[in-house]
Amino acid sequence: MCPSMRDKQEHEGHFPYVPDTSAILSGKIDLLSMDCVLPSGVVGEIRKGRMGRIMENTLMSLTVMSPKKIFMDKITTAAKHTGDLPYLSQVDMEILAVAMEVHGTVVSDDYSMQNVCSSSGINFMGCGIESITRNIKWGYVCKGCGTKFDKVDTSCRICGHKITRYPIDQGEL
Ligand SMILES: [Zn+2]
Repeated sequence: MCPSMRDKQEHEGHFPYVPDTSAILSGKIDLLSMDCVLPSGVVGEIRKGRMGRIMENTLMSLTVMSPKKIFMDKITTAAKHTGDLPYLSQVDMEILAVAMEVHGTVVSDDYSMQNVCSSSGINFMGCGIESITRNIKWGYVCKGCGTKFDKVDTSCRICGHKITRYPIDQGEL
């Protein structure tokens, strides 16, 4: 992108978000109200997954882009340089390349992707911490015998020890 176009974008505050698949599935990205560009590889991953059918209408109304080869090449070079290339999937590379092309902001918690962004001057933001805070589910566990309960109680009905809470890992969506 030429400098004048970039200035124009900055002036208008027009920087699309380029989220990765897990950022989208985390539910933190409001795809319809935020200005998002989805690399075609990300759309493919979502369609293959459990959320595919649910999200089909949303996906159809979004801007989908395939990265140009020149940007894929630039990202490949940058990732080789930082040593992140072995840790990046084809789709990861597409996200980075599209973000570079549109001067967008990558939304990802992937450390390798963030690393390549920093070294290539691509804006990025994480999404995990906030989505974890918002979606956290608590389980309850006895400090004495370790029995797990799904409701809070004052003391364990098996051994009488105190019950404490712990975050339940919700795993992949
Ligand atoms: Zn107990």
